[in-house]
Parts: sequence; C-alpha cells; structure tokens
Amino acid sequence: MTIDLAPHTALFGRLGLSTTSPNQGVYDGTAWKASGPIIDSINPASGSVLASVQEASLEDVQRTMAAARAAFKVWRKVAAPARGEVVRQIRLAIAEALPDLGALITLEMGKIASEGRGEVQEFVDVADYAVGLSRSIGGTVIPSERDKHFITEVSNPLGVVGCITAFNFPIAVYGWNVALALVCGDSTVWKPAQTTPLCAIATNKIIVRVLEDIGYPGAISALLCGGGEIGAGVVDSPEVDLISFTGSEARGRLIGMEAAGKFKQSLLELGGNNAAIVMPDANIPLALQSCTFAALGTAGQRCTTTRRLFLHKSIADEFLKGLVKAYKSVTQRIGRPEDPNTLIGPLHSQDGVERYLRAVDKIKQQGGEILIGGEVHQHADQGLKAGHWVLPTIAFYSTLQGVSIIKEETFAPILHVATFETLEEAIELNNGVAQGLSSALFTQNMSNVFQWIGAEGSDCGIVNVNGSTSGAEIGGRFGGNKSTGWGRESGGDAWKQYVRWSSCTLNWSNELGLAQGVSFE
Ligand code: NAD
Repeated sequence: MTIDLAPHTALFGRLGLSTTSPNQGVYDGTAWKASGPIIDSINPASGSVLASVQEASLEDVQRTMAAARAAFKVWRKVAAPARGEVVRQIRLAIAEALPDLGALITLEMGKIASEGRGEVQEFVDVADYAVGLSRSIGGTVIPSERDKHFITEVSNPLGVVGCITAFNFPIAVYGWNVALALVCGDSTVWKPAQTTPLCAIATNKIIVRVLEDIGYPGAISALLCGGGEIGAGVVDSPEVDLISFTGSEARGRLIGMEAAGKFKQSLLELGGNNAAIVMPDANIPLALQSCTFAALGTAGQRCTTTRRLFLHKSIADEFLKGLVKAYKSVTQRIGRPEDPNTLIGPLHSQDGVERYLRAVDKIKQQGGEILIGGEVHQHADQGLKAGHWVLPTIAFYSTLQGVSIIKEETFAPILHVATFETLEEAIELNNGVAQGLSSALFTQNMSNVFQWIGAEGSDCGIVNVNGSTSGAEIGGRFGGNKSTGWGRESGGDAWKQYVRWSSCTLNWSNELGLAQGVSFE
C-alpha cells in the first residue's frame, strides 16, 4: 500500500496528527498513550494509507474508564452554567478548526467536502444548544395532595457515558453526545469506529485542550480507539452508566441486551430504512430534487438516506424518467470527495462495496428491474482505482410480493421504487419494515399532511413533509423507533437521558402526612 502524504502533511500538523509515527488512540486523562495494535487509517477514495494509529488494549480500557469515573466526580460538582461556559469554549475551538476537521472527515470517511464541513457545523450547533440548556435544565414542581408538602423532580449528573459511534458520522455523533453529557455533568468515554480514528483523535485533542487549559480533568472526555473488543470492554465496564451506541441494528440489539442485563441505561441509534412517498398533488420538481439528494447524499451512507420510494401510480412514469435523468447527471459528478464539483464520493470500505453487490444480486433474483447503476464504478483517474466506488442505483418493482431486499438497510446508494394507489396503502408500505427512523411525504394537500403526522400516519421518529428524509437540524430530538432503537439525541428533551432523576417529597410541617388517605395512628 502507498502512503498518501504530500497534500495532508500541513493539515495533519494543524490538527496535531502525525504522518510519520503512529497516532496514539487513547487519552486517559494523563497522556495520549496506547498499548494495543497499530493499524492504518485508509483513504476510501484512493485506498492509500493516511496515517497509522495505535489502538487501545484492554488494560487501556480499564485505566481509562477509571479515569473517566474520577473525572466525573470532579465535574459533577461544577455548576451547570459553568459547565455550559466550558462547552461554549469547546464550541469556539471546534468552530475555529471547522475547515480542517471537515477536510479530515472527507479524507478519512470519504464524504464530499461540503458534507464534511456540515458535519462539523452540527457539532457547533449542538454545542450552542447545550450552552443554552445549561441555564435551563432542571426539574419540575408538582402539587402535593398533602398539607405543607412540596414535591419536586430533580435531575442530577448521571455518571460516565460510554459513547460508541459509527463510521458515517465520525465527528457529529460524538458532538451530539458530548455537548449534552457535559452540560448535564457527566464525563464521556468515546469509542469511535475502527476505520475513522484520526477524526476522533483530532476532535478529542481540541476538547481535551480546552478542558485542561481551563483547569478541568481531560478525562471528562476520554478516548479509546479500537474495534469491537474495545467497544465490548466499554459496554462491560462497571464504570459506565449510560451506553450511547450508534451503529447497526444487529450490533445494537446485542449491546442493548447486554446493557439491560447489567441494569445500565442505553441509548440506541441504529439502522434506518427510510421511505419517501410522492402523492399526485406534490410539487414534483421539489420532490425530485429532494429525493435525489436524500438517496445519494453521502453516497447513500446516512442513517437517514432515502432507501425506498413510493410513487403514486398516476405520476410514477413521469417521476421515474426525471429521477433517472437526475441520476445520470449526478453520476457524471462521481469523483474525489475533496473536489468541490463532486457530488458522490466513495463507499467507506470494501465491505460496503461487497454488500452493495450482494444487494444488487438479490434485487435481480427478487424480480427488481435495475433502471440505472447496479455495478462498481470504474474510474478513469488512476489515483482512484483502488478506492471503493459504486454506481448510484435505482431498482423498480412492479410488485413487492416476495421482495425481502427492500426490508433491509443496505448502506449504499441503492433506491428501491414501487407504486401505490392510496395514501393509506403508501403509509402501510412506509411502516411495513422493522426500522423506524426517517420518512417523508410529498403533497400539497392538508388532509394528507395531517393523516401522515397523526395516529395512523408514519411510525418513524422523524416525519417530514415536502422535505428530504435526511438532513435533520439539531433543534428537534433525533432518533428512530422500532428496530432503530428508540434512542433520542441532540435537541428537544434528549438531554433527559443523560441525567438521573429523583422525585423528592419535602415535608415542611411537623405532622406525618400520608398520601391516599392512609392513617397510621
Ligand atoms: P457497526 O454496528 O458495525 O459499528 C458501530 C460501532 O460499534 C463501531 O464503533 C464498532 O467498532 C462498534 N462495535 C463493533 N462490535 C462491537 C461490540 N461487540 N461491542 C461494542 N461495540 C462494538 O456500524 P457501522 O457500520 O460503523 O455504521 C453503520 C450503521 O450505523 C448503519 O446501520 C447506520 O444506519 C447506523 N447509524 C445510525 C444512526 C442513527 O442515528 N440512527 C446514525 C449513524 C449511523
């Protein structure tokens, strides 16, 4: 394998990353020092090595988890608005590094430049949100039925949050977690995806620098790079109070069960299989543009990617013609993700390419018609030959009888399309999968809108009208239902999962007051 150094040396230098010696993938509050295996971080566009990383060992896990617990004991004593001020400083430092961190995401994860920067912006946005929360989080006061009694629900810091993240959002998801966890008074231990360690090291170096410059322990935001074994060590650790896991359904199911078995809290953000529905009264150009973006953004590797498209029979032919035309034009812009003209970058890994090809085979076996794509992409650019390239694909089904592939999340740019006749039928299709993350309805009709967002509508955690299934803002709670795991992160009242709750009853009389009319004379 060749080492892809020249253009990145300056960027890596600014981010505190080394291109010559292994980057240490552990921060335990005292040093950047790992004792596990050394691995290479690969550029998915070129297949070349970006840098090497020394991962954590199981001993590193134990030491780091203990350090995070000790840091929590310091941090929980800090007043929430003062914690908010620290998050504000972290926000400023991340914003300053935004172009560099965005470029690093593009190099290591493979998403296009504007999406790389947008991902870091999400961290900045959620930090802003968390700073505001730090002056408003609290509990409630409830009327007591007893004389001279006061009932209040109080939130306190929870403990150590083990944050295990996926490759496709190598910075933002930690941002969502750490910003909320920190204002809630928790410490965090981050276990990033094994294939995006440089993003994690660079981001956490910024966070730790801010914490330590102000005089707080860096282990408030500790880091453990590594694979499944290290993730399992975090889940298993007696020091962890909440596991915030982002990843596949299969893995999330096991982690959820393990956490429950040990009475730890878990917050699961798992796979999606998101649908868009286009009604005959929709603004068709808007729906076309929106569905193209949602199906192809991040080369189909967002949890909120549109994977299923249901078209009303009366507009299906015309819509599909427009969609294939749009795909043809986007396909001209597959290329180096750092090039501002590129719209589609590579898949993140060779595994992803293999899963894509297996899905294409299944589509054909199950009667799907490939309207465009369905193959790996052969690049003319020699430098990209060893990258992980596939063609955006549309598969059309005249019937969904016996089609199982449409019920699975294939983490690649494959869009399954079918038709419907009534909104009820379309909603049933939308809801007819195990996953429940995001959904979108395109219509100009108010009754359709209210049906869609109501009790008999979409069963997803994210329900859109005339907008893309992907691209959520941080203000609302983000997360999915059913096998997507029921977790909520980011905005809304997602913070409530990062605290421990107590209902406190205070008797300020000199009498024993019993509820429900009970007397004990
Ligand atoms: P993955 O499940 O393979 O890995 C996720 C994380 O789990 C990684 O950090 C991995 O190292 C770790 N891990 C692996 N084995 C483990 C174990 N035994 N114990 C603990 N941790 C372990 O997922 P991926 O391929 O990195 O990411 C893609 C998936 O993530 C997709 O399904 C996507 O939909 C989902 N995702 C969901 C959301 C959401 O918010 N719902 C967001 C992003 C990604």
